[in-house]
Amino acid sequence: MGRVFFTWYINTACNYRCSYCKPEQLAGRQAPAERWVEVWADIHRRYGSCHISFSGGEPFVYPGFIEILAGVTRHHTVEVITNLSCDVRRLVEKVNLKRLRLGASFHPECVDIEEFLGRVKELHKYDFEKWVTFVAYPPHLDRILHFQKRVQDAGVRFSILPFNGAWDGRTYPQGYTEAEKKVILQACGDDEPNLRSFKWGNGGKAEDGPAAAKSSTTKGRPCLMGKSYARIYPDGSAKRCCAPGAAELGNLIEGTFRLQEEPAPCASERCPCWKCMIPGEEERWERFWITPYRKT
Ligand code: SF4
Ligand code: SF4
Repeated sequence: MGRVFFTWYINTACNYRCSYCKPEQLAGRQAPAERWVEVWADIHRRYGSCHISFSGGEPFVYPGFIEILAGVTRHHTVEVITNLSCDVRRLVEKVNLKRLRLGASFHPECVDIEEFLGRVKELHKYDFEKWVTFVAYPPHLDRILHFQKRVQDAGVRFSILPFNGAWDGRTYPQGYTEAEKKVILQACGDDEPNLRSFKWGNGGKAEDGPAAAKSSTTKGRPCLMGKSYARIYPDGSAKRCCAPGAAELGNLIEGTFRLQEEPAPCASERCPCWKCMIPGEEERWERFWITPYRKT
């Protein structure tokens, strides 16, 4: 079988308070780190070496997260999105860096750019893929080019995440004004992967992205999500994809998790995923499910 990909929302808690986000204080079920290390060794036995994208909340506030990463990277490759408030030195000492990619998210309301870049530069001494992400929150767009330059001057890629939510009577990301779109595209170029997941109207290259290429309904069509992909929630439960009502795949902590054996028919009228794995449409999605790590 091909490689299996996971998205793991390990918790919903965060130590920052960004005004464009509402982290919850519930930290999820919080199985101990040793249990998670066992779980991922078992997944390796059953499904081979997989790829896990961690998200949250802030993953590093999960107790023992560095130990979890150290255990998981014995078998699998990982990608972590973090606000980088963690102990960078412990991270590079404990984790197999050949199997790590790290997206450091910069949140100007919570950390000074100098302090943030200091941590980025500390990581930059080590040979693994890293980049910086920045939420294109409308009140912050006046400084986006300054931040972009500072990050790029440090030798690190600058990536944009569209803002999801309401601001000043508009709903984003669809509500970006022409001037806002222009500055966003100036900051990240028109090939930014994170802009592919939505259509933002005239002038936005995102409209021409893979989401637009997909047929209008997916209901009843076989999809590899659930066989080659699963989404894990803070309580350890897993679903085949992010669509409302997506099929449940059991619970990793309870030992009931199973991937589907064949591409099962989709149950959703409208698929929310721009890189959903529909057989026959590989040209649209296959290149986005690749993990370019150094050979281990
Ligand atoms: S750092 Fe991330 S998770 Fe934490 S409050 Fe900010 S946007 Fe939310
Ligand atoms: S909603 Fe999309 S990702 Fe989920 S099963 Fe259907 S086609 Fe696949």
